[in-house]
Amino acid sequence: MDLRYTDAELAFAEEVRAFFATDYPQDILAKRARGQALGKADLQRNERALSERGWLAANWPPEYGGTGWNVTEKYLFDEELERAGAPPIVPMGVIYVAPVLYTFGSEEQKQRFLPEILSATTFWAQGYSEPGAGSDLAGLECRADADGDDYILNGVKTWTSQAQYADWIFCLVRTSREERKQQGITFLMIDMTSPGVCVDPIITIDGGHHLNTVTFDNVRVPQSNRVGEEGKGWSYAKYLLTHERTSYAHIAGKKEQMRRLADVARETGSGEGPLWADADFRRRYDRVSVELTTLEFTTLRTLAAVATGGAPGNESSILKVRSTEVAQAITELWLEASGYQGLRAVRDRSRADWNGGAAGAFAPSWPVTAVADYFFTRAQSIYGGTNEIQKNVIAKQVLGLE
Ligand SMILES: Cc1cc2nc3c(=O)[nH]c(=O)nc-3n(C[C@H](O)[C@H](O)[C@H](O)COP(=O)(O)OP(=O)(O)OC[C@H]3O[C@@H](n4cnc5c(N)ncnc54)[C@H](O)[C@@H]3O)c2cc1C
Repeated sequence: MDLRYTDAELAFAEEVRAFFATDYPQDILAKRARGQALGKADLQRNERALSERGWLAANWPPEYGGTGWNVTEKYLFDEELERAGAPPIVPMGVIYVAPVLYTFGSEEQKQRFLPEILSATTFWAQGYSEPGAGSDLAGLECRADADGDDYILNGVKTWTSQAQYADWIFCLVRTSREERKQQGITFLMIDMTSPGVCVDPIITIDGGHHLNTVTFDNVRVPQSNRVGEEGKGWSYAKYLLTHERTSYAHIAGKKEQMRRLADVARETGSGEGPLWADADFRRRYDRVSVELTTLEFTTLRTLAAVATGGAPGNESSILKVRSTEVAQAITELWLEASGYQGLRAVRDRSRADWNGGAAGAFAPSWPVTAVADYFFTRAQSIYGGTNEIQKNVIAKQVLGLE
């Protein structure tokens, strides 16, 4: 296995780096650097900028507008995007539903939906989970009853990321009850402006509005919005999940977080000196750095296997678990640094002016982002299939244990 990049690959990385430095909307990078949340308009501007450069749909076949990149080019692109601090592509349209559409959709559906996804003019949500169906997804109860050329949809989807922005949602719904609960599930696309669709926010512990509950009350959905065969939705859903679980590592983003953390720790500390000089903190920092390096090599090994004709298959569960654990460990270090920063701010304040005045000037904004990131990154071991479920997959499918 040769893990060195070729000259052509290095030149490609340079081209991507130059794009983010000059042709990409710099105000989006500035907002991200300040830890500001991005709204729908920014997320769409991000994707349009990539789309105009022909770089939005890295995983699509070229005939539908994909980039035609090999796995190494995709990896290099992601690295440069994260190094620049650009937001990740919102996956529900480009990465999740589009592959299902170009693989199992009708010609009409491909022509209707793929160009809108490619030009970032429609925003999608994923409606799989329900209050009683998460890990046990096949236990879903949201029901679609045939009525002429339509279905009538009733039920509740929950934890639906960014449904508040969505123009369309793809859902798994029950169209019949069969012996096996995986049967009788259908893959349906629903226009969010349809009468009877209601979106309610769920505010998470980081204070953000990422999630929602989506209720369908007698919503009329044309049968032409069904992907593939009725009752076969489970196999399309499983296909989609393999795309979902291969996109978690975000190595360059994690490296950048570690680099910035080292800078912050050099400037932050208690009365006894900078946090960077604290042996216990440094030991834990170094341990996470080593774990990140091993994650990087595991990712590269998977890429090398794919490049030579292999498939990531169930090994993507290993990447999901490790990526999550390293991501959480990094946010724990940041949280600790923000605690020291808070301590310092309190001490400085006590020396200056407890009644306000210039006191606030000592407090930079990064601890707020660090605390919010710490809280929200807890969710990584839940979404995309919980880590416990991934460990079951690894035990059964990778290690052959039963
Ligand atoms: C931030 C975030 C974003 C999300 N976005 C979306 C989205 O856009 N669309 C969508 O459809 N869903 C979304 N989800 C939902 C997510 O997919 C589910 O939360 C997840 O599948 C777990 O389901 P659950 O919450 O019902 O937990 P449960 O399945 O009830 O699990 C509860 C606990 O039991 C454990 N457990 C369950 N079964 C087993 C088992 N067999 N063996 C061992 N342990 C087990 C789990 O690991 C977990 O710790 C999102 C979730 C989060 C947190």
